[in-house]
Amino acid sequence: MAEPAAAEQRWLQAARDFLRRTLPALEGPGESEPPPPLDAVLQCLRKASGGDLPLGYSFVSISDLQHQQCTPCCSHLTWSTNEFKEWAHQGQGSLPTHSALPRTYLILVGCLTKGRQDNKGELVDGCLYVKDNTGIIPCELLHFELEWMESLFLFPSWSYIPQRDESTTGYLEILMDPVPVNPPKEVPDSIPVTYPASAEPLLTSRIPCKKKSNLTVAGELTRLGPLLHIHHKTFFFLFLECFISAICVPVLVQKPKQLAWHHILQLSHRYTITGLTVSSLKKTGQRMFVTGVSSCILPYCPEKVRKQPLDSSFQGESTQSFSLESAEQLSDSLELGVEKERPTSTKKSKVVSYVGTVTKILNVQAGLYLLDDKVCLCLAYQQLLNSARGLRPGACLELIGVHVLQKPLVSFPFIVLGACLRSNIKLKSFSRLSTHYQPPASSGNLYLQLLFRYNLGVPAYLWLVSLLEMFEERFSCFFGRLRLLLGSRHRSPGAAEKFLDPLLQAVVPDREQARDIYNEILAKIHQCPLQEYLPLNPPCQAPSLSALCHLAEQKSWEGFSPSQLLSPLEAQHMGTQELNRRLAWSYCTLSAESFQPRLILLGVLRVSSRSSSLQLQDKSRTLTCVISHKDGSPFAHTALKGSLLQVENYQLIVERFLQTDFPSWEHLANLEYVREKKNSVYVQFYFEDVQVLHGTEGQIQKGLRNGNSSSLRKKGDGGLTSELESPEAKLLKLEDPKPDTQRDENCQRGQSSIGGTSCVSRLFIVTQKEGLMLRNYQLPREEDGKGRELQYSFQAIVLWLGRPRLWSHLGETDNLPELEEYSHDGEEGITRQEALLLFMGKSVRWFPFLHPDGLYRFIVHRCSDLEVFDKLCLPSVPPKFLSRSSCPLCLPVQDTWHLKHETWISSLTEHQLAAKSVLADMDQRISSIPEVLSNSFTGSLVSFAGEIVDRTLCASPRNEKLCVPVGLQKQRGRLLASDHSVKLSVSVASDSHVLMDIYIASTYLQHLWGLLPGAKILFQNLERRISRFHNVYCTYIASSCVSIISLPASCLPFSSRPAREAPLPSFMFLSSLQPHLQSLPRAQILCHLSCVLVLSLQWVCSLCSSIFKEGRCTRHSPACPSHTGVRQASARVLVEDGTGEALVLCRNQHVAAMLGLSLLEWEALLKCVQRRGSVLIQHGEATGMGCAEEPEDLVACYLRSLCRSPLICRPILLDFSLDRKPSRILEPAPLPLRNFRCSEVEFVSQMRPRPSLLCLNVEEVKHHILSYLNSKRISRTSSCC
Ligand SMILES: [Zn+2]
Ligand SMILES: [Zn+2]
Repeated sequence: MAEPAAAEQRWLQAARDFLRRTLPALEGPGESEPPPPLDAVLQCLRKASGGDLPLGYSFVSISDLQHQQCTPCCSHLTWSTNEFKEWAHQGQGSLPTHSALPRTYLILVGCLTKGRQDNKGELVDGCLYVKDNTGIIPCELLHFELEWMESLFLFPSWSYIPQRDESTTGYLEILMDPVPVNPPKEVPDSIPVTYPASAEPLLTSRIPCKKKSNLTVAGELTRLGPLLHIHHKTFFFLFLECFISAICVPVLVQKPKQLAWHHILQLSHRYTITGLTVSSLKKTGQRMFVTGVSSCILPYCPEKVRKQPLDSSFQGESTQSFSLESAEQLSDSLELGVEKERPTSTKKSKVVSYVGTVTKILNVQAGLYLLDDKVCLCLAYQQLLNSARGLRPGACLELIGVHVLQKPLVSFPFIVLGACLRSNIKLKSFSRLSTHYQPPASSGNLYLQLLFRYNLGVPAYLWLVSLLEMFEERFSCFFGRLRLLLGSRHRSPGAAEKFLDPLLQAVVPDREQARDIYNEILAKIHQCPLQEYLPLNPPCQAPSLSALCHLAEQKSWEGFSPSQLLSPLEAQHMGTQELNRRLAWSYCTLSAESFQPRLILLGVLRVSSRSSSLQLQDKSRTLTCVISHKDGSPFAHTALKGSLLQVENYQLIVERFLQTDFPSWEHLANLEYVREKKNSVYVQFYFEDVQVLHGTEGQIQKGLRNGNSSSLRKKGDGGLTSELESPEAKLLKLEDPKPDTQRDENCQRGQSSIGGTSCVSRLFIVTQKEGLMLRNYQLPREEDGKGRELQYSFQAIVLWLGRPRLWSHLGETDNLPELEEYSHDGEEGITRQEALLLFMGKSVRWFPFLHPDGLYRFIVHRCSDLEVFDKLCLPSVPPKFLSRSSCPLCLPVQDTWHLKHETWISSLTEHQLAAKSVLADMDQRISSIPEVLSNSFTGSLVSFAGEIVDRTLCASPRNEKLCVPVGLQKQRGRLLASDHSVKLSVSVASDSHVLMDIYIASTYLQHLWGLLPGAKILFQNLERRISRFHNVYCTYIASSCVSIISLPASCLPFSSRPAREAPLPSFMFLSSLQPHLQSLPRAQILCHLSCVLVLSLQWVCSLCSSIFKEGRCTRHSPACPSHTGVRQASARVLVEDGTGEALVLCRNQHVAAMLGLSLLEWEALLKCVQRRGSVLIQHGEATGMGCAEEPEDLVACYLRSLCRSPLICRPILLDFSLDRKPSRILEPAPLPLRNFRCSEVEFVSQMRPRPSLLCLNVEEVKHHILSYLNSKRISRTSSCC
């Protein structure tokens, strides 16, 4: 027995020590209290736990609770284990996914108080606190008595709920009434003066009241407003109803020490309030009672009031007209109403009361909670959101007088119960579940700020919440939550606000004046923003990039069928290989409006370290982007890297990659032949359509939207000043450029340990830039085996401008001092210093920003060594060749260097032009397409600009296949077969027929974006080549690069190929055709068909192109498995137009037109040919002589007679181009000499070789058109003569 006694002794000793340390010295009015009543506490403990000391429990101080308890817990001093289990089990019943609060064995003793001590004094915010000597902690009670204030209590049952982020403390939920350690204070017996509540006339009458007169009002509490905090004042309203009439008077409670009343007031209870004065609102003159410093609130006891003029029959009558509804009733009754209500009409909300359990916190900051998994409680209109204390999953709430809004936002899944300033939200029971406390932001809550600023209704508010939630989710990992959401009270609006402000302005253009909360509370008739609502279809959305890409991909395949990609006229003559190749790569353009609702693009601009392409990024993924300027200048805004951009006008391109094995066009509808579908998505937009929501390093890109910097490249433009005004240029501050010799030693490879904030910069102009390529550069410092792999790199030839400069710190500059040097020194003494910049490793990130003719600056931070650039230069060729002075030094660009775009050469000012003369003959020659096509052109590397007219995938010429290491084939390159190349047909302008063909191997394509029909592109350093047939074309080689001058004109969202109006071909004569003309645009002649020289109809195998006969391929060794034949037709005809003759090659459907056959006749004819495989008719052959066909072959006979028929020889309107490739059809021997007979005389004349034309279209000529054209022709011929 000694041991328990010893244990008890030890426990008692510890308890005494603890209590001595922690119990607050109670502040009594005027008198000093005795030291903490240790024994009183112990006595109280014994009483609470049934006589024994609770030896299993230990005391806990507030401070220890706050700092050592990181998880939610509860303590129940008097409960048995079973009682606790039962309690926890019941709590879990509502939400089985959460665990119950774990039990601890802690004793809490402390003082209940209404304010915490601040360094400015007592801070009263309407909350209750528990404090001891070690600290103070907010608490929530379900039941509270005013006389408990400032008394010492033992708390027998409580939960501690810490905050999720442990930066601030949590709070206590007091589960059972606290036990007073000392006997409670005496309540005054009676009130000296009592007025029954007939005070209402004082408020309604215009009689000026005596300000000093203090009144006491008694009445029944009919309404209790929420705590409000406005202009640094916290207050609330309560409404007392007279016992004898239904008249109700408002009372404003505003003295700090009275705010605790809010915790004791209970609806339909009767109270007496003393010390009231009458006051009125300045703005509206509404009158109300206001509490004074001496005001007290007392429960109304008829016995304690001296006069009692009451009719007792009023007692107990509830004045509430609200009925309590259950979740089922609510949703049932509302769902019935759905069909009746049209979403476009304004709805009136019903006011109800509701009891429900919090099942989920939807958004604490926005004040949205889910009750019973069915309805959403919105507390946002109650400003302080009840501090969210106690509103944890599992807590039971009673909502009195809330508005029911059904489907306020179409995309919001729940019915909304909106609490207005007349609603009362009461915690009925605390949650028994272990969940953390998420406090709403006390200041800078953007949700509420915007709600009040725009006076939003619930539909718009819910939409705002969804946008803001998404915004926060996507970008807070880049910039931090606070920086994104900071309200406008801080210097400038945060990113989120910049994003939301214009959207909200568009939604509530005619927003009323700011909310009049006093009117909402005091008006006799209920008036609040929740009464009426217009259901909202979200006007726009800003989903995550991964959701956006998913949507785009879905849309691009929606209703897609391979047959859309090909015209059936072409497709029916294609072999398997060509057919499937033409299907392999297609695209689809989507715009913001292609989505419902409209889709806004948001993303952080970065450069991919892999592909060196520009990208937009959010938390979910990255999206490659192409940015162009509307004036055609390239995008070079290095300062924009890392900024958060918003784009509403963009083209989202979904590239579709199909692996198919369709045997022929007839199978296109059968999707079984599609083996694989892949896609890649990228976006392109103009810089002018970009809004910068958040700049890097706090820079605000104010000038960007005005477009002043984008027009800088235009010659003769205002000059540099406009660009330099933009903050991105204000980066550097010039210091004494003298090199600090002492520091030189410490500055190695651009990094100095003691460099401080100084940095070194060097200005240069780019004269040439090459494409991004795998190159096997091996730097001397990387000879550890790693550097031997091929790596992506690019190089640029630049010209240094001036010497490197030392800058003291990041500041501002108004000029380019390097250029000033030139103008002062003149041209003497200036040596042109070229360098070959080598970008590899991380520095390839500058690829999208670096463009020829741009002035850039390298900035080496934390460095003071002016020779940092020279030290790193390497000879680009072995030293023995170095005697050639033209060889530039090679400078590997370091990863840590920063590149900054300054300006373009074309926008240098007059006094900077001296530098321009140094750059003379540096201009890269940009040719025109006709120049490049002409025979006299001599260069082999060419640059030109043009609009892409057509893009087709074709087989690479055998000798041009590139060997790419397997591991380095990147995503997009692999989606296209590596033996394919892309043929771009480029024209000078969309209405021109002069076409240049450019071939790009698919391996290069992974870095090339935006090569789409309709886009204007500047091609640089392409290789000009001449084909066997003397045609000029270009190929993309390692040193080539492209930049986009303009994006394709916006087209219909779903068209995969933008429909282009074919320009009218020019009308001409055969005599005016130049022999050996390199390029002939599509032209038209009116001519006479003289005769059909050769006609060939055949069915060929779709796989091997052998003759296909009677459903089988005729190839035998090895046997061909194909079961599909493709029909092909060709003809060579002779035409003349009176000025000359020409041979015309027709293919496929043009043959039918040339023969004058209808589609039906043509189909029938081809069917007949199918049986025998092929038919060949040649002009001049006699029947049966060397014939290929059997005499009984009706098809051949029919065709031969058709070709000889005079009916075929007729006038036609022929669209053609020059045939630049010989056909497989044998051409009759050239006829250099021809006989002409005129009467009796025969002439022999030497003829010019007949031009060979390719038929593009044949039209029959109607008689009236013929006579019109003839007359026109005669007039033209005569004018020529
Ligand atoms: Zn309301
Ligand atoms: Zn075959």
